[in-house]
Amino acid sequence: MATKDISREKSAQLFEKAKNYFPGGVNSPVRAFKSVYGSPLFIERGDGSRLWDADNNEFIDFCCSWGPLILGHNNPEIREAVQAQLGKGLSFGAPTRLENELADLILTHNKYIEKIRFVSSGTEAVMSAIRLARGYTNRSKIVKFEGCYHGHSDSLLVKAGSGLVTFGETSSAGVPKAFADETIVIALNDKEALEKVFSDFKDQIATVIIEGIPANNGLLIQDKEYIQFLRKITKDNGALLIFDEVITGFRLGFEGAAKYYDIQPDILTYGKIIGGGMPVGAYGASSEIMSNISPDGNVYQAGTLSGNPVAMAAGIAALRILSQPGFYEKLEQTTQAFVNEIQSFITEKQLDVKIFTVGSIFWFAFATSERIQRADQIDPNSMLYYKKMHRELLNRGIYFGPSGYEVGFISAAHTEADLATALAAIKDSLLIAFEA
Ligand SMILES: *Cc1c(COP(=O)(O)O)cnc(C)c1O
Repeated sequence: MATKDISREKSAQLFEKAKNYFPGGVNSPVRAFKSVYGSPLFIERGDGSRLWDADNNEFIDFCCSWGPLILGHNNPEIREAVQAQLGKGLSFGAPTRLENELADLILTHNKYIEKIRFVSSGTEAVMSAIRLARGYTNRSKIVKFEGCYHGHSDSLLVKAGSGLVTFGETSSAGVPKAFADETIVIALNDKEALEKVFSDFKDQIATVIIEGIPANNGLLIQDKEYIQFLRKITKDNGALLIFDEVITGFRLGFEGAAKYYDIQPDILTYGKIIGGGMPVGAYGASSEIMSNISPDGNVYQAGTLSGNPVAMAAGIAALRILSQPGFYEKLEQTTQAFVNEIQSFITEKQLDVKIFTVGSIFWFAFATSERIQRADQIDPNSMLYYKKMHRELLNRGIYFGPSGYEVGFISAAHTEADLATALAAIKDSLLIAFEA
């Protein structure tokens, strides 16, 4: 276990080198540690709940590759399935039995979709689902919510402008204003805003997209009644409802947030866990809606490496384990017990922080006692507490995602002992974060 004055020399050297190769030294921005102290740890290997960095420091990992690793690192069944496939070739650009197998595993355990299409990332799944919704409805406007992340396609890199209902403003340079004009952004948990959108843009809205349970900007658990309202208003107006379940799919169970709310969305998107750690995304819907996808229909979508056999093999091995009875119940109980212990410590010490949880996801909300359901309820200044806690946790061998807006994940590889170790470190770190 790492001690207080661990060396991060090798990681620091690797990061200096990486800056010569990549913008910001990374291949995905949040990895750059811009929101926390220090520079990124370069990871050498992972096993079970543990990570080892280039300086051979050991960490208990609660980032879990941002969600995919629900079985922890280097799971033996996934590893063996991948190794077995490696001997047969890496890609064929032709169908394989493995695609059928993964689809069968998913579709027999998920009553919300009848047909599925595999892609290679969450971004690609969502981008394709939006195109499908537009093609199906023959409308072009989409509605998204402030505080939901749906990957980095142009239509979705849009944030709210000012006012209750406005056209979005691009949240990235390089996104044409004309794209942002097709995306309307509103606050979560606001029925009035939804009603206004559908009256202002009558018969123009192709789809409303929401993260099943928003978990990319804090954990913003919505009320069932609000989601039911969202379902009804979309249906009444001939717009499709997309649940982006790239995080919640296979995290809350095979039927994800759709089952959690008991709501039938029109299109669902998946990613992260579905590939067992390999790059896989997917979108699914009723057979009728999916029949609009090429080659059956006129909505084009393709991929050279889609349904990649090695990735499929990893996904099959992972989902076989996840489909065993009691898997999710146990993981959720473990998480709930862990979170309860943290919460009682917080209460005992009267710390100004609240911990939100669903399934095996948890999130610390600092400087609030409110139930947070909208992005604008999160005070950016409260992130300083997370930043301090993050530093203390790293020094105690606990790896959390390098941003206070990111949630933490518990995997089936986290043992009681791991969680007891983490709990002690979290208690110490929280106290230090609140020191003046
Ligand atoms: C991670 C995520 C995405 C993007 O997936 P990538 O694989 O990173 O492209 C999209 N939507 C949600 C809800 C996500 O959590």
